[in-house]
Amino acid sequence: MSDSSRKTRLDPFGTSSIEDYEYLYEEFGIQPLKPLLSEMPNATVAMRRGVIFGHRGFDRILKAIKVHEDFAVMSGIKPTGEFHLGTLMTAREVIYFQQQGATAFYCIADVEAYEDNNVPLEKSEKTAIGNIADLLALGFDLNRGYIYRQSKEERVKDLAIAFGRRVTLATMKAIYGERHLGLYLSSLIQAGDILLPQMKEFGGPKPTVVPVGVDQDPHLRLARDLALKFKRKFGFVSPSSIYHKLIKSLDGSPKMSKRAPMSYFTLEEKPEAIANKISNAFTGGQPTVKEQRKVGANPSICPIYDLYLFHFFDNDKDVVKLYDECRTGKMLCGECKSRLIEIVTRFVKDHQRKRLQYIDKAKEILGFS
Ligand code: SF4
Repeated sequence: MSDSSRKTRLDPFGTSSIEDYEYLYEEFGIQPLKPLLSEMPNATVAMRRGVIFGHRGFDRILKAIKVHEDFAVMSGIKPTGEFHLGTLMTAREVIYFQQQGATAFYCIADVEAYEDNNVPLEKSEKTAIGNIADLLALGFDLNRGYIYRQSKEERVKDLAIAFGRRVTLATMKAIYGERHLGLYLSSLIQAGDILLPQMKEFGGPKPTVVPVGVDQDPHLRLARDLALKFKRKFGFVSPSSIYHKLIKSLDGSPKMSKRAPMSYFTLEEKPEAIANKISNAFTGGQPTVKEQRKVGANPSICPIYDLYLFHFFDNDKDVVKLYDECRTGKMLCGECKSRLIEIVTRFVKDHQRKRLQYIDKAKEILGFS
């Protein structure tokens, strides 16, 4: 077993670790996105910078965009807390595809929140109000979009019931490992979410792209398999996916965790609290200024660099400049963090102001008013 295989784990219900993204191409069958980038209309910064790096069957979506064929984008959020930078990335991707002509589906994965995180539906529906307001504040267009809760969407549950007949326990174990049955059930429901845009009420079979963090790939493998098994019955087109990298945690570990509040921040935190977390974050810097000036720092292990790269520098030239200045010791971590705090504070204040205007709409979508 190679080093990379030992260190690579894609687990939507647990901790994923990815030492080497290249390994995902060789061993998991994920395709690199880079060769398709030149055909991509208005590629986003995350696509250009390789943050969105891989796909399954994305050629089909490109073709649909090119020939103006009907297509859909589908993703969602597990309502266990406020929007953070991972869910922000997914929301931006959904909105991007909606702007390229897709009908957008956004699922509040409350069944998964219950099965995976033990969050009762009554609690997650309150969290979902904020999540939906965030999505709308970011630019999701309700005129060409459908937002729903898994627990309330009968068609998704009906699909999960149908799918259950064609999946064995051995398949579930092979994809997800040994888990309690509730998680297997929520995986069938997620397959229902992914294939919902192809039901006749939504215009029937069509290419559908699912933008997610790469740790969600097992759900895509299951849904693609089910699309094939149920092709005769429903006429499904195999769903496509694109994958973004997992942003490093502020404490330097590979992925943010809700169990470690200093490892991430949400878009709802007070700007001062976010500034404090950034100030205390791990960096790729040297122990002393003198040493950093002499040998430079390491952006590839630095979560502050990731924040600029993933979200907070609009201009690619600024990313290249920071990388160079970091490597050569021209930039020091204190200054680098202060600049980031300014940018993040501006973004968060503006977002929080916009989000407030969508709270009533979000309640209405969830049937509270
Ligand atoms: S200079 Fe910035 S990017 Fe480089 S290691 Fe320090 S904080 Fe990270």
